[in-house]
Amino acid sequence: MNEFIYNALPGRVVFGMGKIQSLAEEIDRLGCRRVMVVTTPDQSSQGEVVRELIGSRWAVNFNEARMHVPTDIVDGALDIATAAEVDCVVGIGGGSTIGLCKGLALRADLKIIAVPTTYAGSEMTPIWGMTENGIKTTGRDNRVLPSTVIYDPVLTLTLPSFVSGPSGVNAIAHCVEALYSPDANPVTSLIAEEGIRALSNSLVQVVNQANDCEARAEALYGANMAGSALAVAGVSLHHKLCHTLGGSFDLPHAEVHTIILPYATRYNTEAAPEAMLRICRAMGTEDAAQGLFELNRALGAKTGLKDIGFELSDIEKCADIATQKPYPNPAPVTKDGIIQLLTQAYHGECP
Ligand code: NAD
Repeated sequence: MNEFIYNALPGRVVFGMGKIQSLAEEIDRLGCRRVMVVTTPDQSSQGEVVRELIGSRWAVNFNEARMHVPTDIVDGALDIATAAEVDCVVGIGGGSTIGLCKGLALRADLKIIAVPTTYAGSEMTPIWGMTENGIKTTGRDNRVLPSTVIYDPVLTLTLPSFVSGPSGVNAIAHCVEALYSPDANPVTSLIAEEGIRALSNSLVQVVNQANDCEARAEALYGANMAGSALAVAGVSLHHKLCHTLGGSFDLPHAEVHTIILPYATRYNTEAAPEAMLRICRAMGTEDAAQGLFELNRALGAKTGLKDIGFELSDIEKCADIATQKPYPNPAPVTKDGIIQLLTQAYHGECP
């Protein structure tokens, strides 16, 4: 057996149908007294439901969470939290909402209870991201790791299928990259493989059968695995490329992950055979990249960068940015290789 180092992270996970009902108890368990409930404008009604649930622990609602966590929103939310003498933030929503909670915890001594309603997996990671003047900065800090995560599949029933599919593939991408990360270890690899199995087994049903709570529960369980793997093992080519496409070309986060994943997997196929074996085993396919591409098609997801507003003429610029700083990846990252990958991804060709 190979040597390994594993820094397991603390955190309590409460998982199950209707578990949002235990929120007040979980707040008390942390010794917190005054709560700010955070949502996006779209989910403000879910914020109101949470407000009802927590009675006298409620201090204020903040419904202005936004994609990419703009720093001015964090500043505004922090002023409100400070004025209301809040000691705990409850974030109910996807990566954007939980991202705002993390931004707050980075600046003030606040506990986070995360109630994820997408499959992005941010709730399990100590990774934060904030955007100022169009530039997104990310980092790792254990202060932003939620103390408690409540997964309640019932809360995902309102998630539209065009968000569910890409969000779930975003989670699969965390698992794929965790498998070949230099920080991977036998435990994270088990978690990542199980995450791919759960997500690939449930997502088509989630997208096609809006009311199937069991499928949503399995996808949410997969998201927990994905976030847990991402939290410990690092990221490589796929995430770096998606970060460039999202940050420098203003493309939608989860859709970019969905489109790029089969091509990034193909790029690493020969260099990461053990990871490919695990992906194939988890998905019941003979070729990892092909299996991921077919999953996207079964989900009815967009498969080409051309479908989400990326221009063919931007490929060279994107390849330049993505190869500026070296990072670990199983296959050597070359500009020519990235141009080829992006050209295929632009057209949505079979990888
Ligand atoms: P999101 O949080 O932006 O949500 C997309 C939209 O779906 C929002 O309008 C939201 O309100 C809505 N929504 C969410 N749940 C809903 C529900 N149950 N019913 C109805 N509407 C609902 O999308 P996301 O994909 O979850 O998160 C993307 C962001 O998360 C990106 O900025 C990404 O960088 C970040 N992220 C961070 C990490 C990390 O570890 N820090 C990990 C993954 C993603």
